Amino acid sequence: MDNAKTTVDVKKETAALLEKLGVARAAWSDGDMPSYSPVSGEEIAKLISITPDKATAVIDAAHEAFKEWRVVPAPRRGELVRLLGEELRAHKTDLGRLVSIEAGKITSEGLGEVQEMIDICDFAVGLSRQLYGLTIATERPGHRMMETWHPLGVVGIISAFNFPVAVWSWNAALALVCGNSVVWKPSEKTPLTALACQAILERAIARFGGAPDNLSQVLIGDRAIGEVLVDHPKVPLVSATGSTRMGKDVGPRLAKRFARAILELGGNNAGIVCPSADLDMALRAIAFGAMGTAGQRCTTLRRLFVHESVYDQLVPRLKKAYQSVSVGNPLETTALVGPLIDKAAFDGMEKAIAAARKEGGVVTGGERITEAGKESAYYVKPALVEMPEQAGPVLEETFAPILYVMKYSDFSAALKDHNAVGAGLSSSIFTLDMQESELFLSAEGSDCGIANVNIGTSGAEIGGAFGGEKETGGGRESGSDAWRAYMRRATNTINYSKALPLAQGVSFDIA
Ligand code: NAD
Repeated sequence: MDNAKTTVDVKKETAALLEKLGVARAAWSDGDMPSYSPVSGEEIAKLISITPDKATAVIDAAHEAFKEWRVVPAPRRGELVRLLGEELRAHKTDLGRLVSIEAGKITSEGLGEVQEMIDICDFAVGLSRQLYGLTIATERPGHRMMETWHPLGVVGIISAFNFPVAVWSWNAALALVCGNSVVWKPSEKTPLTALACQAILERAIARFGGAPDNLSQVLIGDRAIGEVLVDHPKVPLVSATGSTRMGKDVGPRLAKRFARAILELGGNNAGIVCPSADLDMALRAIAFGAMGTAGQRCTTLRRLFVHESVYDQLVPRLKKAYQSVSVGNPLETTALVGPLIDKAAFDGMEKAIAAARKEGGVVTGGERITEAGKESAYYVKPALVEMPEQAGPVLEETFAPILYVMKYSDFSAALKDHNAVGAGLSSSIFTLDMQESELFLSAEGSDCGIANVNIGTSGAEIGGAFGGEKETGGGRESGSDAWRAYMRRATNTINYSKALPLAQGVSFDIA
C-alpha cells in the first residue's frame, strides 16, 4: 500500500470528532449495533438501534411537527436551511473527516461531499422564495384558474453508505423549505455521520428559534427499520437511495399504499470514446470516473466502448494509470483510492473478475493490498478488464472499481450496447464530432437520466435534477424542479362572475 504507515488511532479520532460535532457519547458508545471503519477495519462505535415500535412513535411525532411547520411561511422556512448551511460551513473539516473515517473516502472527496451539502442549502434557500405555481387561462368568463403548491407531510429518507451525508441534505434541504418534516434512516454502515448531521441541524434549529419539536429525526437501525418507514401510513413520500434490489422491495410496498417514491438505485454507467476524442481529456475523465471513490459511486464509470482507431492509443495509457494509481489510507496519505467498504464488497469484486475471465476478459490490477494488523480492511488495486464483448458481469453493477473496456467499430452498434443494460443512471461520450454528440443526447441516444459530453459519468452538480431511468428507479432529487415531488399540487378555479357556466358547454339547469 502506498505510504501505508498507519499511525492515526481511528477509534480515538472518531471519538474526538463526534465530541467536536456535538454528538452525545451515550448515543454511540454502549449500544448493540457495532459500526466499523473501512480505513482500518476496526470497530469504532456501538450505537443504539431503535425498535420498530419506537420508530413508529418517531414518525408519529414527525407528523405532528409537520402540522406546525406547514403553516410557517416558506421564506422563513428557508431561514432554517440558511442556518444549516452556515453550521455546515463551520463544521466542514470535521464532518468531511468523519465521512473519510466511516465511508473510506479520500480527504478531498470527504470534504467535497460536505461542500455538496452546503451547495444544496444555498439552492434551497433561494427556492424558498420560488415555489411557484402557474396561472392558467380558463375557458369560462369571470373565472381564474391557478396552481398552488402545498407541503406534503413527513418525508422519509433512506440512504446508502457511499454518500452518507450528501443524500440526506439533498432531500432534507428541499423537504424542509417545502414545509415538510423529515425522518431519516441512514445506512447501517454509516450511522455516525448521520448522528453528526442531526447534531449540526439541531444547532441550526436552536439558533432559528420556534421550529416545532421533532422536525427532523434519525432512525438508527437496519433494513427492518427502513421497512417501518416505508410502511407507515403517515409518510406520503419516501426517497430511497441504494441498490436496485432494495428498490425492488421498497417500490411495490410504497405503491401498495399509494405513497410517492423517489427511487435512486444502482447504475451501470458507460462511456463511448469516439475517433475524434481529445484523448488526454478522456483519459483523465475515465480515470476519475472509474477509479475515484474506489468505484463506489452510483455514477462510477463501469463500461467503456473505445473506437478501434484510437483503442491502441488510449487503452495502454489507461492501463498505465491503473498500474500506477496510489491506493492507501485516506486519513494519512494523499492516495487517490481509499478502501472498499467491507469484505462483502471485496468478495463481490473477486467474483465479478472471475466471471469476466470466464467470458474471455483480460485483467489489469484487481489485487488486494494487505497490511499487517489491518487484515479486516479491504484495499484493492482498481481493475481494468478488456472484454471481447459485453457479456456476463458487464451487464450488472458490481459496486467496486472494475472498468470493462470494449472495442467498437460502428457507432450505432456501440450506442445499442450502451443502452443494453438494466440500469440507466449516467453516461458520457468523448467526441469532437457534433453529429455524434448530438445523436448521443437525442431521443435515440443515451437512455440515461444523465448524459454528458466530454466529461465523465460522475461528479454531478446540485443544480441539475439527479437520477436515472429503468432499474435506476426513475426518481429525481436535488436541483432543477425536483422540489415538486416534495409538495402536493392543488388546481384552484375561482369564479368571480355572477353566473355558473360549466366547462365543455355542459348544461345542467335545475328548476
Ligand atoms: P443497500 O441497498 O444495501 O442499502 C441502502 C439503504 O437501504 C440502507 O439504508 C438499507 O438499510 C436500506 N434498505 C435495504 N433494504 C431495504 C428494504 N427492503 N426496506 C427498507 N430499507 C431497506 O445499498 P448500499 O450497499 O448501501 O449502497 C450501494 C448501492 O446504492 C449501489 O447499488 C449504488 O449504485 C446505489 N446508490 C444509488 C444512488 C443514486 O442516486 N442512484 C446513490 C448512491 C448509491
